[in-house]
Amino acid sequence: MKALQFSGSSQAKLVNLELGPLQVGWARVQVHYNSVCGSDLALYAGNWHGHRYPIVPGHEWSGIVTEVNGPGDHWVGQRVIGDLIHACRVCPPCRDGLPVMCESLTELGFTVNGGCAEYVDVPTENLYSLPDELDLATACQVEPTAVALHSVARAGIQPGERVAVLGCGGIGLLIIQAAQYAGAAVELATDPIEFRRGAALTVGASRTSNTDAAAYAQLSDERFDVVFEASGAPQSVAQALGLLRPGGRVISVGYRVGASHPIETAKLPLLYASLIGVMGPGGKYREAISLLTRGGIDTKPLLTDFVALEGHEAALARAVERKPGTIRVVFDLLGGGSHG
Ligand SMILES: [Zn+2]
Ligand SMILES: [Zn+2]
Repeated sequence: MKALQFSGSSQAKLVNLELGPLQVGWARVQVHYNSVCGSDLALYAGNWHGHRYPIVPGHEWSGIVTEVNGPGDHWVGQRVIGDLIHACRVCPPCRDGLPVMCESLTELGFTVNGGCAEYVDVPTENLYSLPDELDLATACQVEPTAVALHSVARAGIQPGERVAVLGCGGIGLLIIQAAQYAGAAVELATDPIEFRRGAALTVGASRTSNTDAAAYAQLSDERFDVVFEASGAPQSVAQALGLLRPGGRVISVGYRVGASHPIETAKLPLLYASLIGVMGPGGKYREAISLLTRGGIDTKPLLTDFVALEGHEAALARAVERKPGTIRVVFDLLGGGSHG
């Protein structure tokens, strides 16, 4: 089968992989769409934790089950997405309800081959079936939508709270919408790229700002109940603390492995602030499927570039360089990029 393979830092190529035997308890899925997120780009750059090369990336996929080994024949022919996390269920973090912290975690697209290929193998227990009304191009955003819902849940958003979102990439744009869905007013979204600020307005942010020092000086009197850090820019947590009202929460979702930046630690007690990290979709898949099916979240402003796997080189370059017009690249495995 045709697959995109990362074999080292900034090394991507199209390869022909042998479809091996399917593991017991696993399903084989014909992939229709796979979107590329920030963590895939970090993996591509060689700046990731807990991965192995060579690897077929991709955890934001949608497709149709073609085969199952073991029980679960009913899956064959179903339209599905799948959880990227396959945890052992017996180690201490698993028992504490944190499978994403599993001591022997399998992660599709990071430790085993993922969805940037004609087929992806997935444990059947990780599958979620999709309602007919949810098209597969939108469904590849179920996983990042779950990450956004998980972030909003970790923030404990209350209706009417004032929210700022730093970073208007795919996750930031989904968090803006998930926070509004939870009843918050997203009164500020920041990003250095004008195109992405425009997308933030499209999905409901009241206003936007650039992220340079001059722009932040203009925001010095602004205070928010919750600030989501979704950019991964090292200085962004410090900027988030500067926007917080007393008793507010900073929710750190974006990150770059190895990056650091000082924060004024006194601000944590002086502001009675909470600094909360979020990792992964937190199992919010059903909620994400339901919300996307009802149109409660609009993915169109995020999904800018539908391309065939053959177009990976130019598409990855556009995503890495954050070219105006590009937010998320989606590999269209069947349509060859003709979609949208
Ligand atoms: Zn992702
Ligand atoms: Zn475990």
